[in-house]
Amino acid sequence: MTYSSQKKEYRNKYQKEYRHRRGVSQGYNTPQTSKWREVVRKMVHRIATRKWREKNPEKKMAEQLAERHISTVGQKCAICASMEDIERHHPDYNKPLEVVFLCPKHHPKRWNKE
Ligand SMILES: [Zn+2]
Repeated sequence: MTYSSQKKEYRNKYQKEYRHRRGVSQGYNTPQTSKWREVVRKMVHRIATRKWREKNPEKKMAEQLAERHISTVGQKCAICASMEDIERHHPDYNKPLEVVFLCPKHHPKRWNKE
């Protein structure tokens, strides 16, 4: 084996190891980090929801009233007629018992977030 081919082989091996080590140590896309990311995402969402409720007491009241008095069972999304995970949407928070039923996909709350 010539000196240059030996050197090349060594370099390839080193680079491969380096990439491998870096991938592991930074932990990209390992099951642990994706789980952790999910935990963080939920935490951020919870804090955002709480802040929103503190800032919008009348909306919170409307949501609680609607939750207590209006069932989503058997309701359909006003836009796509889906019956899955139907949510109550308040077109006017001053009228807490007037709600529109929407699926998560069509709920304006979700639109703003994305
Ligand atoms: Zn829908």
